[in-house]
Amino acid sequence: MKSGTFPGGLCLSVQTAGVSMSFEAVPPSRQVTIPLQQHVGSPCGAAVKKGAEVKIGDILGESSGPDTAAVHATVSGKVTEVVKKFPDMHGGASPAVVIESDGQNAVGEFSMEGSDPLTLIEQAGIVDLDREPVPLHTKLVAAKEKRVNTLVVSGVDVEPHMTNRSALLAERASDVASGMEIMGGILGAKVCIGVSEDASGAVSSICAAAGSANVVTLKPKYPQSLKELLVKAVVGKEIPSSGVPEDVGVTVVSVETALAVARAVNEKKPLLERFVTVAGSAVGNPRNVLVKIGTLIQDVLEFCGVSSVSKGKVIIGGPLMGVAISSTDIPVTKETTGIYVQEKGEVTDFPSGVCVKCGLCVQVCPLGLMPFLISGFSESGSYAMAEKEDILTCNECGCCAYVCPVLIPMVQWIKLGKSEIRAQRSSE
Ligand code: SF4
Ligand code: SF4
Repeated sequence: MKSGTFPGGLCLSVQTAGVSMSFEAVPPSRQVTIPLQQHVGSPCGAAVKKGAEVKIGDILGESSGPDTAAVHATVSGKVTEVVKKFPDMHGGASPAVVIESDGQNAVGEFSMEGSDPLTLIEQAGIVDLDREPVPLHTKLVAAKEKRVNTLVVSGVDVEPHMTNRSALLAERASDVASGMEIMGGILGAKVCIGVSEDASGAVSSICAAAGSANVVTLKPKYPQSLKELLVKAVVGKEIPSSGVPEDVGVTVVSVETALAVARAVNEKKPLLERFVTVAGSAVGNPRNVLVKIGTLIQDVLEFCGVSSVSKGKVIIGGPLMGVAISSTDIPVTKETTGIYVQEKGEVTDFPSGVCVKCGLCVQVCPLGLMPFLISGFSESGSYAMAEKEDILTCNECGCCAYVCPVLIPMVQWIKLGKSEIRAQRSSE
């Protein structure tokens, strides 16, 4: 076992010592809303109609190629609606199936067939979360074609306050290790897993279960989970600017993905639930919960005792890279890893000032960029200059904005610049 890290980043002392490393199951809601697109690509076509009776695990939307991931019922009951557009956390909408639960939790006969692991992964509807939820079967096929020789599994918690990956490793290490082995076998690749060295339960559990996989402990620093930094720290390979891990013979998946693979291949069970951390100043007891896909965020918050009186901003994900949502009437999806809720009093509008050239943003940028420059160019509409300074490489981790003494919203400017450059490129 060796230790790794990266230059820059933030060492944040976040109190997570009291957070339970086991998952409490959120009781199924009376009604769940299950989007037919929870992945990058095209939505699945609905495989059920209004009025259909379904059981847990029944297919609601079938995978029909590389850009789709199957979707399954997570409660038993009656389909009350198949809506064309249901709002998602990104401000868009996708078709969705609404099921009124009968409270019976009747489990269907999972229709996953065969013994080929890749086929079972496709049938299980597993997506991998890198920055975007990619159908896993497609990712593995592409990695195989590129002849990657190393699978890196991320066991590092994604953001401060989020503890679900460490908890998952502490609680289900042997299943995670089995999933790692299965994916390593599909790819014919050696397997390494990165774990934060301060997550002692996670480290000891995965070391005991890992078998031939190499466990690498990492300094507890944000944003260690980002693929560029993880690959460098775990296997010492540098991903080229604007490149992907596969360019250097590596593919990266998360521990949640490894667990879902083990369940799909060993037990022939589809992906039905997410392991979610609920934290933030409005949450009395931060905790890790197991939530059925389709459960409304509002129902999860109620289970965690978050009162509507104290509830301020609700963020899907963590405080630095998460997405703020305006309504909690959207469902937990395959993409949900955390819910962070700030108290009303903590949410303030702040005026930003003028750059004082302190250089703090440069010191913390883990990718060695000049955040003040790329954000400044973007703010003034000088997109060509921003591109020259490598704005497209920025992973939007937010370290620069976090340390800026005059509160310049650098990530917002950078996001704007990136989308303008990409729009310009596609129009050309
Ligand atoms: S410029 Fe991008 S990569 Fe660098 S610290 Fe800021 S958000 Fe992170
Ligand atoms: S941290 Fe803020 S004030 Fe300091 S150099 Fe960067 S943008 Fe300017």
